[in-house]
Amino acid sequence: MKLTDLPYLSSLRAQALQKHGIDSPEDLLMLFPFRYIDRTRVQSLSSLQGEQENITIIGTIKAIRDAGFDRKKRVEIILQDKQGAEVKGVWFRGGGYFKREYKTGEQVSFFGTVRIFGRDLSMAHPEVERIRSDREIETLKRIVPVYPGNSEFSKARITHRMLHNWINRILEQLPIQEFLPESLLESLSLPVRNQAFQAIHNPETMEAPAAALERFKFEELFLFELSMARLKQVCIEPLEGHRFSGPGSYTETFLNDLLPFQLTNGQSDALEDIRKDLTSGRQMHRLLQGDVGSGKTVVAAGAILMAMDSGYQAVLMAPTEILAEQHYHTLTRLLGELNLEIRLLTGGQSSRLRRDLLTAIEGGACDLVVGTHAVIQQGVRFRKLGLAVVDEQHRFGVQQRSAILGKGDHPHLLAMSATPIPRSLAMTLYSDLDLSTIRELPAGREPVRTAVRTEKARDDLYRFLEQNIDEGGQAYIVYPLVEESSAMDLKDATLGLQKIQHRFPGLEAGLVHGRMSQEEKEHVMGRFYNGELKILVATTVIEVGVDVPNANVMIIEHAERFGLSQLHQLRGRIGRGERQSYCILMPGEKVGNSARIRLKKMVETGDGFEIAETDLKLRGPGDFLGTKQSGLPEFRYADIVEDQWLLARAKESAWSLMRRDPDLSAPEHRELARVFEPVFRERAAWFGLG
Ligand code: ADP
Ligand code: MG
Repeated sequence: MKLTDLPYLSSLRAQALQKHGIDSPEDLLMLFPFRYIDRTRVQSLSSLQGEQENITIIGTIKAIRDAGFDRKKRVEIILQDKQGAEVKGVWFRGGGYFKREYKTGEQVSFFGTVRIFGRDLSMAHPEVERIRSDREIETLKRIVPVYPGNSEFSKARITHRMLHNWINRILEQLPIQEFLPESLLESLSLPVRNQAFQAIHNPETMEAPAAALERFKFEELFLFELSMARLKQVCIEPLEGHRFSGPGSYTETFLNDLLPFQLTNGQSDALEDIRKDLTSGRQMHRLLQGDVGSGKTVVAAGAILMAMDSGYQAVLMAPTEILAEQHYHTLTRLLGELNLEIRLLTGGQSSRLRRDLLTAIEGGACDLVVGTHAVIQQGVRFRKLGLAVVDEQHRFGVQQRSAILGKGDHPHLLAMSATPIPRSLAMTLYSDLDLSTIRELPAGREPVRTAVRTEKARDDLYRFLEQNIDEGGQAYIVYPLVEESSAMDLKDATLGLQKIQHRFPGLEAGLVHGRMSQEEKEHVMGRFYNGELKILVATTVIEVGVDVPNANVMIIEHAERFGLSQLHQLRGRIGRGERQSYCILMPGEKVGNSARIRLKKMVETGDGFEIAETDLKLRGPGDFLGTKQSGLPEFRYADIVEDQWLLARAKESAWSLMRRDPDLSAPEHRELARVFEPVFRERAAWFGLG
């Protein structure tokens, strides 16, 4: 059966459908009603108690007439039921049609809302249906689906009724194949496919569609998990990787002699996970999650040194120049005594420096490259890349992740993230990665005290700031970045600096923002780092990873404009040293409802996982992750926040099925294999595999 077999499907209508992704009869079946009208209630007028919505009334037409003048001109049909009670149907427009179509004495039904005017009962614009026999009364009692409308549909005069008729015709003529394993459906009490379609498009009760919808949610979650399972089990797990020899003298010296502190348990466990991966002979794909300040950099350093111990090169990629530079400084400082060649590669470097760098990387003179996206550009060639570390990996797309892996022959991958991805999301997004999580912060850290203050408190706040600096502390003052290139936020931050310099003439203050050159930024950050600058005014460029342990106050201006995770990231810049830290949120004048929830949450908790869960609920998965490239599949029916239970079931069953029948060659999986292939190809391409 083809779409063109449908009655009244003009080319205009076909185009309107196509614009909404409906190319085939199956696509049309997947167009689900967004609500239903319960027309099962047929009532007699005399038993009516007051006004009532959505009821059906049956009677005989007693009169059809014009009434009123000018703007009150209308057509009325008086309907009388068996008990002699009357209701008036009223049309202020389009009444002519009813005058032509119906005659007195005919039996009809009105469906709509009954209102009381004086002593009269009336219904405005009821739906009318002719009843030729009492038998037809039964067919009136039904639940009517309402399909989502749009401007193209209405331009092409595609009505609900038309969509419903088309869908029913398709349901009659198209053989609908089940592709999910029967046993699976049974164990989850989900309906088979054609029953589910019936329940969606022709439900017998108002509850029926919701139950059927579960099946379609499960179907898409299952296919998704199945593709993740295949990616992992068939494409990734068997990938051979370089077998490292295990911690040698670099790693040992670092951990035993150079590291100024004891690793936390979380750090040691993560490093142990990594050691196992690196020495297994298979390629590592590991995600290291840990709240801001949990010390992921040191873990990365450990992994990097294991690569050096085995004679490999390593690369560390960070999302911003500031962060890349900071990693570069941290690592050169930490590893200085090991006599390794560590180099920084970013976009803003001179071409001479760059040429020199590329030669060192290709020749193998350079052991570790730290940089931004610049490290995945063409022209960067490694001699023997054994490990790629991607910091703040949620800022990168999977494509970039695989691009960096393409810089070597199956190098190991360590991805790190400070945005703790709620479990539900991690399960769908990162099924291809193994997970290590650092739950604790290094000992001796006092939780940051957080408060919301209004403009009235500004003087007090400045006194507090001054006192804190007198005691040896440093402070950030953060302004929102409205847009990447907007001049406005620059103005805000620049004015902010002037205000501060005016108020604190004796204190050194500096400014960093995204449009400064690399040298300028580096210069200012350096002065803040070594304590020359007491106050750093900044846009959100400092959000990620910046590490100045002595800074212990952060004032966030226009705090209502920041997202929750972003506020948490910013706050993570303080509370890194021994000093008690304070985060003061200064909202502007207009604070909406959800901003209020965000600020409240920030005051209530410092736990990154809890914050992430709330943020995800407030914004939904798409916005939570920010970019399209985050790789979140767009589920049509399922919601990975709401449908966590189903998601967990889908994951379990998909992964166990993939283990039993990895190429879906069993006869009972033939239909599944057919449906799955295109889904899988798309997913695999997305991951740069195939
Ligand atoms: P993040 O996980 O946010 O990237 P960093 O790696 O920047 O955190 O570490 C935050 C700070 O904590 C750094 O100043 C680092 O030197 C320090 N640090 C890391 N591990 C420990 C530890 N085990 N004990 C004490 N301080 C630590
Ligand atoms: Mg970090």
